[in-house]
Amino acid sequence: ALGTIAGAVSLALTLSACGETGESGSGSGGGTIGIAMPTRASERWLTDGKSVVKDLQAKGYQTKLVYGDDDPKAQVAQVGKLVEQGVDALIIAAIDNKSLTGVLQQAADADIPVISYDRLILGSENVDYYVSFDNEQVGRQQARYIIEQLGLEDGKGPFNIELFAGSPDDNNTKYFYDGSMHLLQPYLDSKQLVVRSGETTLDRITTLRWDGPTAQKRMNRVLSKSYNNETVDAVLSPYDGISLGVLSALKSYGYGSDSKPLPIITGQDAELASVKSIIAGEQSQTVYKDLRELATVAANMADDILKGRTPRINNRRGYKNGVKDVPAYLLQPASVDKSNYSFVLAGYYTAEELK
Ligand code: BGC
Repeated sequence: ALGTIAGAVSLALTLSACGETGESGSGSGGGTIGIAMPTRASERWLTDGKSVVKDLQAKGYQTKLVYGDDDPKAQVAQVGKLVEQGVDALIIAAIDNKSLTGVLQQAADADIPVISYDRLILGSENVDYYVSFDNEQVGRQQARYIIEQLGLEDGKGPFNIELFAGSPDDNNTKYFYDGSMHLLQPYLDSKQLVVRSGETTLDRITTLRWDGPTAQKRMNRVLSKSYNNETVDAVLSPYDGISLGVLSALKSYGYGSDSKPLPIITGQDAELASVKSIIAGEQSQTVYKDLRELATVAANMADDILKGRTPRINNRRGYKNGVKDVPAYLLQPASVDKSNYSFVLAGYYTAEELK
């Protein structure tokens, strides 16, 4: 297998345009598991892919890892190919949660069990298990951070806030947004928080494919339209890549000086660039999710299913995917900022990496 993220990326890029990483290998006859990940453009999914492969190989499985490069059609084709190749199980982190119904029917016809990884696949009965983090809790941790930093519980305000959400085709987006709004809404109602752009409903604040430059453009537009003499005090951002895009826009409008400090900006995934930004005092917070743990739960689930055991779940009611309640195992996220990164992330990044 591959030693470093950089190694994985460069090998992946040289291997092919369709996102095959070439990480198929080792294992001794336990079967082959297909792993479909959404994109190589964000560090987290590289860690996910690498970790799932490592855990499955340690259990004696062969693996076929593919990346869809944020193109739903490409991902459907990749999963179709894995089905044709006769994999024994599939672990899928969807790009567009509604695009996989057809290909999952093919998987079901071939008796291939499917684990929905991190993002729930909707509209298909052929999803056996779901493994993720408590996504509603992620949104709450971002909102709670803003509430604490602004002192809203002490009655402070009014403050200006702008809201960003994730990709509209990712089922997690709604959970993050609902979790955040659950805590922020009372302060919007009391006018301690004011959204000067007026853009508060999910349909107006999503960011297709979680793209940082897309968020940057929207932030530029919001700043030029709604902030002539006013300043932004907080930005709810659901993902580190979006946070960094928003930060670029703010800086281009003169934020980041003594007279115009940067607002509180949340994030998610504890990606290296964002942790460095937090250390530098720019991005304020991120939500850390231990992807190695997520990978281990997914690998154990696949192993249990293939060995005829019942996988462990901790969310008995299951997650509704529009057709069924998918039994789920949810892990807990952790809020990280400048005050606690060094111990929360100890072991996830080396001191060297954080320099
Ligand atoms: C994941 C987040 C990630 C986002 C963008 C979501 O589905 O849960 O961890 O930040 O996708 O990749």
